[in-house]
Amino acid sequence: MSESINTICVQGGYRPGDGEPRQIPIYQSTTWKYDTSEHMGKLFDLEEAGYFYTRLQNPTNDFVAAKIAELEGGTAAMLTSSGQAANFFAIFNIAGAGDHVVASSAIYGGTYNLLAHTMGRMGLECTFVSPDCTDEELEAAFQPNTKAVFGETIANPALAVLDIERFAAAAHAHGVPLIVDNTFPTPINCRPIEWGADIVTHSTTKYIDGHGASVGGVIVDSGKFDWTAYPDKFPGLTQPDETYHGITYTERFGLEGAYITKATAQLMRDLGSIQSPQNAYLINLGLESLHLRMAQHNKNGLALAKFLQAHPKVAWVRYPGLEEDGEFERAQKYLNPGASGVVSFGVAGGREAAETFMKHLQIAQIATHVADARTCVLHPANATHRQMNDAELEAAGISPDLIRLSCGIEDTDDLIADVAQALEAV
Ligand SMILES: *Cc1c(COP(=O)(O)O)cnc(C)c1O
Repeated sequence: MSESINTICVQGGYRPGDGEPRQIPIYQSTTWKYDTSEHMGKLFDLEEAGYFYTRLQNPTNDFVAAKIAELEGGTAAMLTSSGQAANFFAIFNIAGAGDHVVASSAIYGGTYNLLAHTMGRMGLECTFVSPDCTDEELEAAFQPNTKAVFGETIANPALAVLDIERFAAAAHAHGVPLIVDNTFPTPINCRPIEWGADIVTHSTTKYIDGHGASVGGVIVDSGKFDWTAYPDKFPGLTQPDETYHGITYTERFGLEGAYITKATAQLMRDLGSIQSPQNAYLINLGLESLHLRMAQHNKNGLALAKFLQAHPKVAWVRYPGLEEDGEFERAQKYLNPGASGVVSFGVAGGREAAETFMKHLQIAQIATHVADARTCVLHPANATHRQMNDAELEAAGISPDLIRLSCGIEDTDDLIADVAQALEAV
């Protein structure tokens, strides 16, 4: 029976058998016991499925990863200790020293640093393109050693909407996958795989957890990208892994399992950024109400964007769900039923006015966080993006006066009243 996404949020990934616990058990154990070393050896050789050490796999994590894979329409998924680890692993699983990736310039500050600087030190080169670039500019960004294209469905904090179909077509024309960070829309508002994305990542720290309780990430594979069609580009997946007794991931696990199995068996083994089972349990509690929470985030985001747009003290508003917004057309296409809860805007009077406004908010609170049940505000030029110079800020679509308002799930009228009184103080 095919189930709606709402039902998958509640019940996906874990179906208890007769007499088993209704809630996902937390396997708070680093290790598993076996009767013979021979049995354990088979697990190490990936000849049999089973658990032996939580750095590689844990049942609690696997239940939750399976739910997220179902929600995104993927074939396999892996939880990571953070969204940063998810994006790093997603790329590093198929690209390393001497390789190159193409990325949208409108992305999260942490991911920008990862690609522009940290992975650069590892020998991986990145070319950034504007999400609004022409087809010629996009084409020109590719190199013979390009291994992936990366973007965010809704960019944090620029709120640009990625034209997933266009970026997927360009990636596929060059024989590489499109990786999409779908943190802001969540699978409730967008399922990038349906538009051609091959791999989807999330910072589960945001809407998926939704309660500001745990840092985490996830990588979902669509199982659709045919690595074997480009064996020279992706030898890690299509040629024997000597560190695993010569297993060839695509042969042993098929297109549906190769990418995630390699990420687990190789990257988790060596880099160890597993999500704790306790946090996996917490994000599952978040997932159980994700569909209900996103409806209220969508409603509050649109209501606050409309209110701000009509306010004389507000210089500009960006919300992809606003009809007047430059992203509206793409939002209509990709973001349904809504454009999530994050609105960015500038208060007339620039940096100083922004600080005055933020200081007077009572319900919305200043936090380096976003996509939470509680409304929060941030001034990125002064916080998350402070290491960027003005040109880099500009390229990431962030003006120095930009305020990021992340609408929670509180009452809509209360949020409008709070913003109204804080604007009075400016
Ligand atoms: C927060 C965020 C990240 C990083 O996630 P962490 O869980 O904080 O490591 C990556 N991408 C996007 C779009 C984010 O909003």
